Amino acid sequence: MKILVVNAGSSSLKYQLIDMETEKVLAKGGCERIGIPGSLLKAKGNGKEKVYEQDMPTHKVAIELVLHALHDGEIGVIKSMDEIDAVGHRMVASGEYFKKTTLVTPEVVKTLEEKTFELAPLHNPAAATGLKACMEVMPNTPMALVFDTSFHATMPEKAYLYGIDYEDYKKYGVRKYGFHGTSHKFVSGEAAKYLGKNPSELKIVTCHLGNGSSISAVDGGKCVDTTMGFTPLAGVLMGTRSGDIDASAVEFLAKKKGMSHSEIITYLNKKCGVAGISGVSSDFRDLIAGAEQGNARCRLALDMFAYQTKKFVGSYAAAMGGLDCIVFTAGIGENTPLIRAGVCEGLEFLGVKLDKKANEGKNDGSVREISAKDSKVKVLVIPTNEELVIARETAELL
Ligand code: ADP
Repeated sequence: MKILVVNAGSSSLKYQLIDMETEKVLAKGGCERIGIPGSLLKAKGNGKEKVYEQDMPTHKVAIELVLHALHDGEIGVIKSMDEIDAVGHRMVASGEYFKKTTLVTPEVVKTLEEKTFELAPLHNPAAATGLKACMEVMPNTPMALVFDTSFHATMPEKAYLYGIDYEDYKKYGVRKYGFHGTSHKFVSGEAAKYLGKNPSELKIVTCHLGNGSSISAVDGGKCVDTTMGFTPLAGVLMGTRSGDIDASAVEFLAKKKGMSHSEIITYLNKKCGVAGISGVSSDFRDLIAGAEQGNARCRLALDMFAYQTKKFVGSYAAAMGGLDCIVFTAGIGENTPLIRAGVCEGLEFLGVKLDKKANEGKNDGSVREISAKDSKVKVLVIPTNEELVIARETAELL
């Protein structure tokens, strides 16, 4: 069975074709700058790489080009589209409308559009554009929606409820849902494998630190708490998102800035976070370069990010009544020793001790242990593989 995994953003579309018998990636790539001049597809297959510089005004054109690349004489890995058994689409928010991986029907698309777009305005509409493009180009291929929220469905009520009127929670579904679930699921599973333990024996804090960041408490293989909430705006400050903020401060700020409700939420999603604090960039590479050149606000943004992440690691150790392992993953978690060191510094009382040299080591795509030999808590860097989780869930559904 071959599953095509699609992760569509507003101007990007990443894909992987995975053989489920071997779980090997047969082909992968990504379209960049969809709808923007200078669009291109970087595709890999057959051990070769090819760049297609082609105008991609829409996601439909992008997916057509991806299918072309999958058939390409040079890097192609399939002869006919029939070889693709299903497509798994990454979706961010489900609300209470989709509790698990769901087969796509017109009704499902309607619910997705009408009910979930407002929950993740940066992601769900973009992913749905990718989904609809695939449905147009591959009308006979089954499609599945794999939600970032599913892994968090095991959270207990005391963890996912906000302190609001319970009747309002029941009526409107306002609660914590959590996001990045496929990533937290994958890296916590890989950590158990690496440690040679059964997931049921482990208390793990997984730190998915990327442009969007979330931290989860995984006790006995199940998520018991996570930092993102009703939407991905909650938790630590992120690339452009504020993270947690007093709701009354939001109203105050909106009044001062003359912003409507939706304008202030857009502001909190797109203009805040480390980009807002530094005034320089949402990209941690730029912040590190800025801090090295003496920019105090870049340094502050980095310090805030590490400090807030550390506080969640500590609070989740308390929530689980112990801590065996911390996992770092995603763009920042996998590539930024400075942040990993900043998060772990001061957690010695919990039994966390970093191996400085191991922490400075390069990301080579493998699982890396960066804690000292005598550290009670293992600290691991694990490259995430959300695509594999999406493919597994899609295959299971079929
Ligand atoms: P998302 O998938 O949420 O868009 P990523 O997981 O790709 O985000 O993470 C993006 C962040 O990771 C950026 O802030 C970027 O600076 C950082 N990052 C990615 N690659 C590297 C790298 N090689 N070195 C340092 N930071 C990196």
